[in-house]
Amino acid sequence: MTVRPKLSLTMKIMIAMVAGIVLGVLINLFLADVAFVRETLVDGVLKVIGAVFVAGLKMMVVPLVFVSLVGGVTAMGDVKTLGRIGLKALVLYLLTTTVAVSIALLMAVALAPGKGLDLTSTQATYTAKDPPALADVIIGMVPSNPVQAMAEGNMLQVIVFALLFGVAITLAGNRGKHVLNFFGDLNDVIMRMVDVVMAFAPLGIFALIARTFAGQGIDMILPMLGYFMVVAGALVVHAVATFSILVRVFAGLSPARFFSKMRPVMLFAFSTSSSSATIPVNLKTVEQKLGVNNSIASFTVPLGATINMDGTAIMQGVATVFIANVYGIDLSLTDFLTVIVTATLASVGTAGVPGVGLIMLAMVLHQVGLPVEGIALIIGVDRLLDMMRTAVNVTGDAAVSCVIAKTENGLDREVFLSDEGDAAGRQTSAA
Ligand code: ASP
Repeated sequence: MTVRPKLSLTMKIMIAMVAGIVLGVLINLFLADVAFVRETLVDGVLKVIGAVFVAGLKMMVVPLVFVSLVGGVTAMGDVKTLGRIGLKALVLYLLTTTVAVSIALLMAVALAPGKGLDLTSTQATYTAKDPPALADVIIGMVPSNPVQAMAEGNMLQVIVFALLFGVAITLAGNRGKHVLNFFGDLNDVIMRMVDVVMAFAPLGIFALIARTFAGQGIDMILPMLGYFMVVAGALVVHAVATFSILVRVFAGLSPARFFSKMRPVMLFAFSTSSSSATIPVNLKTVEQKLGVNNSIASFTVPLGATINMDGTAIMQGVATVFIANVYGIDLSLTDFLTVIVTATLASVGTAGVPGVGLIMLAMVLHQVGLPVEGIALIIGVDRLLDMMRTAVNVTGDAAVSCVIAKTENGLDREVFLSDEGDAAGRQTSAA
């Protein structure tokens, strides 16, 4: 009997990603004009595989969040704990996003992308949609029809309904216990479904990435290289510095191991550009690989995917400075403070789906009196940046979950220290 090393899922995903990039770039460079390649491969096979994979992930979101959160809230035992965890999550999510925009602004001001560039004559047009008013956001959190909330995948409403449901189970005493047992079993079943969908990740991610790169020419990025690099740089700085500090200082965990375990989640976020679609994988990782207990993770991860968008806020900060530079408008200190506040709030209001961060940027630009049409300038490079910022968005959710878990005695260090799910760790199987 020989023991042969088996590639871990992370390894397979990484290989699939590199293969996807290579195929996409090759198509882009040499085969873009071949109708067969474009119609049958890029807009046919690759599109179908990618879309089926993303739909599979999204399919899990509402059932998993609802079932897992109901169980989590009930296990918390009392409403006071729930309120405390909720408050901690809110404060930490807002705080990390504020740090993120500040880093973005500092880097953008220092590196001044767009200075001396005259792109305003390119006749770019962008019509902004109205951002929702704060009052509507608050009213909109309570579902008047929970079935509709689930059908529409409205995460905040699903979270509110699940919280109330979980609290009611506790209040119902013995009768509630039957319901809770059922939810516990259901949670296990749904987690297995997530495993099944994840097994297809290498193929799905390959298709998503290949198609994106087939359509993204380098020529689109070149004129925007300054802007692109500053956003990318700020994303890396925030991820490496802020998240490492959070994880090391406030959760007492090794950042290297944290990132290693988070790698598949980041790759999922990168290839789908959707925090929301990444919830199932992130939740599973935070609980089963990082060791955060279910009560905390089932609450903080979906909430974070909905309101915590550090990467998005970074893009918005850099974009504001870039657009001001291109239009030759000076920003005052008050403007910068306004950007910090509005970008933080805008990221709360940004849904965890592809491209929405750019729509919410209109709100930030409007607040500081910059031309909203400026968005048209950066639209061309946003696809790739969206992928990168989404990876940062979901990592922030996981880092905050670890911190909250630490303060609530809900962090299992043994799980964190085990090799399972460590990208460096290989599984072996007998063959
Ligand atoms: N795609 C991002 C996310 O899902 C949101 C955005 O910045 O557009 O996290």
